[in-house]
Amino acid sequence: MNLDNIRIVLVNTSHPGNIGGVARAMKNMGLSRLYLVAPRQYPDEQAEWRAASAMDILENAVVAETLEEAIGDCQFVVGTSARNRRIPWPLQNPRQCAQRMAQASSAEQVAVLFGREDRGLTNEELKVCNLHLNIPTSEAYSSLNLAMAVQIVCYELQMLSSPAGLPTGEDEEWDTPFSTRENMERFYVHLEQALTDIEFLDPVAPRQLMSRLRRLYGRVRLDEMELNILRGILTETQKWVDKARQKAD
Ligand code: SAH
Repeated sequence: MNLDNIRIVLVNTSHPGNIGGVARAMKNMGLSRLYLVAPRQYPDEQAEWRAASAMDILENAVVAETLEEAIGDCQFVVGTSARNRRIPWPLQNPRQCAQRMAQASSAEQVAVLFGREDRGLTNEELKVCNLHLNIPTSEAYSSLNLAMAVQIVCYELQMLSSPAGLPTGEDEEWDTPFSTRENMERFYVHLEQALTDIEFLDPVAPRQLMSRLRRLYGRVRLDEMELNILRGILTETQKWVDKARQKAD
């Protein structure tokens, strides 16, 4: 994937603060190409304030008069919408859609369109899109702030492009190797013996004790170091029991 081939297109935005907020959301997530189609109030100080350290995104933003001018060279266009329109169109959530955009971005120009704060995108604008993206929300209120909607879409793209987005197994992150089955079996033999020595376990009526302990340790998955610590505790416990017995004799 190539984030540089994905542009964010804001159509007819009313509030310059939102434009700044979008620039910041994009920069946080590694996107850089912002297109503004007929913004109602731009350039504007409020955009600069909200952009914070993403001023470069604003400075490089392309201001276009028409939507065609902003997306004419694109092969893949996504339209975002807070509600289901009457026209049926392929509809995806941001995660699914990010996959499609990521694939296309390797070789194609991709655009994501965001609508007006008050009315969204028109049906005409939505019709030029290859697919529609809807961010799932509470039914009670489905319309997100423009910059926040951009943030969510850009976040999904960033997750696909960065190593942080890859699933990491528990094993890779752990600093000590996990115990082998063999060592676990030795531990259970030791544990059973020690529990018998201290008379917690009655070999005549063991009930489900060892099964339950197996389930407990199985759930946490001990590493070799932890296993050695537990074995050390068991050994010391057995020594004290022995000493106490010898004294009593
Ligand atoms: N009342 C408008 C809401 C516009 S919100 C409407 O019904 O369309 C401004 C823009 O933010 C939208 O055009 C869209 O680009 C984006 N947006 C807001 N909420 C969204 C959602 N739940 N899913 C997808 N995009 C959303």
